[in-house]
Amino acid sequence: MIKVCKFGGTSMASGMTFRRVKEILSGDPSRRYAVVSAPGKRYGGETKMTDLLYAAHACLKKTGSCGAPFEKIRTRFQGVSDELDLGKSLDVDALLDETEQEIARRNSEAFTVSRGEYLAAKLMAAYWGAPFLDAADLIVFGEDGALDGETTDQRIASALGERERAVIPGFYGADKEGNVVCFPRGGSDISGAIVARAVCADLYENWTDVSGFLVCDPRIVENPAQIGRLTYRELRGLSYMGASVLHVETLFPVREAGIPICIKNTFRPSDPGTMIVKSRRTEEGSAITGIAGKKGYTAVAVEKTLMSGGLGDVRRMLEILEKNGIPFEHMPSGIDAVLFLIESGYLGGGKREKVVREIEAAVSPDRIRVLPGLALVAAVGQGMRGNVGVSARIFEAVARTGVNVKFIDLGSLGQDLIFGVDEGDFERTIRAVYEEFFIR
Ligand code: ASP
Repeated sequence: MIKVCKFGGTSMASGMTFRRVKEILSGDPSRRYAVVSAPGKRYGGETKMTDLLYAAHACLKKTGSCGAPFEKIRTRFQGVSDELDLGKSLDVDALLDETEQEIARRNSEAFTVSRGEYLAAKLMAAYWGAPFLDAADLIVFGEDGALDGETTDQRIASALGERERAVIPGFYGADKEGNVVCFPRGGSDISGAIVARAVCADLYENWTDVSGFLVCDPRIVENPAQIGRLTYRELRGLSYMGASVLHVETLFPVREAGIPICIKNTFRPSDPGTMIVKSRRTEEGSAITGIAGKKGYTAVAVEKTLMSGGLGDVRRMLEILEKNGIPFEHMPSGIDAVLFLIESGYLGGGKREKVVREIEAAVSPDRIRVLPGLALVAAVGQGMRGNVGVSARIFEAVARTGVNVKFIDLGSLGQDLIFGVDEGDFERTIRAVYEEFFIR
């Protein structure tokens, strides 16, 4: 059994959290490979290590030295080393001096900002007593800037095949010339998924500071239920609608390989967490797995007699949106009517008037209305597909609170039902659906 464990920034924030991580790793011999983030915040208002490194790089460009930001970086790593009494196994001052010189010599933003993960992994390896393996030697990017998955898999499989345990920094790799290349922010999740796939792990554990996914946002519903198991498809639905623990796009490597992921809480390790799996039996859960939503939408509603069954009108309107760089999120339609749901931010700076004028010229509608201030609410869950009456229950619950539903979009796969309400009704709509399905 092989588990690859990724630890996020809050798990790497201080000597105390390093201790927890070591306990977690040592508590299960199948937890063989750790992929770590850079130290995050110890308290609200503190700056994350990666942000300090961006500041150090800006300072280097301006003044020729990493200056005050690097002094803060130095103090934080020295603090972790002192707390853990690492002096005997690691000369942290020499490591920091060397890192500062190398940052100045390379003068590359990607190299500089990757040093948070690099240093955290060096310290964790010394503390856990496992080898450090540099991600720059394992994760390979091609000339086009995209990950070279095949070479990466080979390098990781051969390096880790020989080792019982290892610590690997997340967030970066290197191109074929050895120049460091970073993933997007938050990218250590991707590194962990790549390592898990390359070693054919049985489980990818993603350790963070929450005990997995909740059915809905705890800022809206007090103490909502935990989601025990969800599929990748459901995860996509929930993250698309704003649930932010983990984004499905970062997990493609493990998804492809069918490796399950478990979201675990470093600060409550015995909580079961949330398992993300390829498929699950619907009886295991409620008809709905999660409820999510987002405010800040505008609907552009176009009506034209005989548009239904006609040819080309919708294509012309979509082309207008595309030419103006405006993505649409949903497009519910009715008889001789279609609604484009757009994030309101895309319609600023005169775009809204421009789009309306262009649609009028292109399709001569009978009526075109722009309705701002909408929120989208999504009930997500594969259980909706086979259960009769789920949407009836949703809308009955919403109706009981006196909220008016503005439009409905039932995803064709029947795994998510999305509907729109006024922004002012958003919170009570989510609460109503939650209570209907989870408080009984
Ligand atoms: N340290 C990087 C960031 O802050 C990557 C990560 O933590 O996943 O974005």
